[in-house]
Amino acid sequence: MNERKHVIILGGGITGLAAAFYVQKYAKEEGKAVTFTVIEASNRLGGKIDTINEDGFVLERGPDSYLARKTVMTELVKDVGLGDDLVSNETGQAYILHNMRLHPIPEGAVMGIPTKVMPFATTPLFSVAGKARAGLDLVLPKRKNAEQDISVGHFFRRRLGDEVVDRLIEPLLSGIYAGRIDRLSLQSTFPQFVETEKKHRSLILGMKKTQPKQEKTPISKKKKGAFLTLKGGLSSFIEALSKAVPEENIKTGVSVRAVERLEDGAYSVIMEDGSVMTGDHVIVTTPYPITKKLFGGTLFPAGFHDTKPTSVATVAMSFNEEDVNFSLDGTGFVIAKSEKTSITACTWTSRKWPHTTPKGKVVLRCYVGRAEDQDIVHQSDEVILEKVLDDLKKIMGVDSRPEFYHVSRMIDSMPQYEVGHKEQVKKLRTAFQNELPGVRLAGAPYDGVGLPDCVNSAKVAVDSLFSK
Ligand code: FAD
Repeated sequence: MNERKHVIILGGGITGLAAAFYVQKYAKEEGKAVTFTVIEASNRLGGKIDTINEDGFVLERGPDSYLARKTVMTELVKDVGLGDDLVSNETGQAYILHNMRLHPIPEGAVMGIPTKVMPFATTPLFSVAGKARAGLDLVLPKRKNAEQDISVGHFFRRRLGDEVVDRLIEPLLSGIYAGRIDRLSLQSTFPQFVETEKKHRSLILGMKKTQPKQEKTPISKKKKGAFLTLKGGLSSFIEALSKAVPEENIKTGVSVRAVERLEDGAYSVIMEDGSVMTGDHVIVTTPYPITKKLFGGTLFPAGFHDTKPTSVATVAMSFNEEDVNFSLDGTGFVIAKSEKTSITACTWTSRKWPHTTPKGKVVLRCYVGRAEDQDIVHQSDEVILEKVLDDLKKIMGVDSRPEFYHVSRMIDSMPQYEVGHKEQVKKLRTAFQNELPGVRLAGAPYDGVGLPDCVNSAKVAVDSLFSK
């Protein structure tokens, strides 16, 4: 009898490739006869990860870095031999655009929660009434039904007031989730604040207590950034990850149409071209709307991911240094929703990530595409560029045109984690466990959108298939 198990992995983004790596690792370490095949629809691996390397520039079309404290990704980067290529971001002041002026994010604000009195009391970003309202957090009781999920917006509005939410917290978070803060699930995105309120009642006092004491950094030594990326861009990680497994185990340019369970408990994966592959297990990492089609709708809880994923576009532009007369020090800015701009954020890439830019050049990377205004993403490159340049002129006084630019669209790319998300994921996994016990769902739609979350979900999926 052939004991060899075959795992079919759908999708060759970071989650799918990480899953392949972990299956191979398990087979080697445990001496098990397990093989795998990754099936990727496009001709390129990496999914949302897509780096442009040209003329000494390293420009990202999608994600540009990951949170260093989520170490599962760093471990995998080291496992594939790229540990020496890891780079931390340069730290520096970040700004918020409000009333068309750039305001420094008040010192000590942690995810927008003030932990230092003076910078918060003196910032012109909030009115006196707004500051007083935020201070109510110190005396307000905790939420009674803390176990029940609530939106990030409602949670913070209750504790700190609308002004702090609209002018600071929302712009900071929308860069990560590109969604509506008043629908975004607190439990699935920032469960630590539920705990802070439970334990300390006041978020301000809780954050003050739990923030690590800031060690005085010697002037000669710069503070380390909270993010990491790779010298050659994130695509270099995808390349190393794909090379860590045999080439013949990855099929690109092959689109999956359906997955069916066979009578003997195995699975049949049917491709768009009619060909069929059978496997004992399937790890599914495709975007949610596609996953739903692959299995037919019945297993999927009503209402789950009903809100369309948001589309965003980024515009990376290179200027000659002497053409950008801009005196503020720092790494970029985010924008309050009330502002009438097309851009939602701008990273001063050459400052935040100096390795990405040749000497004498300045790279700015702007984001467009709010959840409420998706039209701009579908405009032509030229139209998007003009709108971005118009905003940069008003905000930063940048009056020149870029030497070159890249507009990158990521359509329906940001899954929306709405209130109740965690509960729905649980329901979905239970339904799969009952009906399709050899199938695992992993990747951005379920347990976190960050790159380390995706890597972790791949690891958990593989572990759960083989830990018996
Ligand atoms: P994907 O990358 O979407 O991979 C899924 C794969 O499935 C794709 O390659 C697709 O082609 C394939 N596929 C689809 N249909 C089929 C089919 N029928 N058959 C076979 N294959 C199929 N995260 C961070 O941590 N840091 C950041 O700085 C950051 N910035 C971001 C910026 C942008 C603009 C975006 C869009 C996301 C950002 N994220 C960031 C989030 C992060 O990039 C994603 O959550 C992550 O890359 C998702 O990886 P994945 O493998 O789960 O899915």
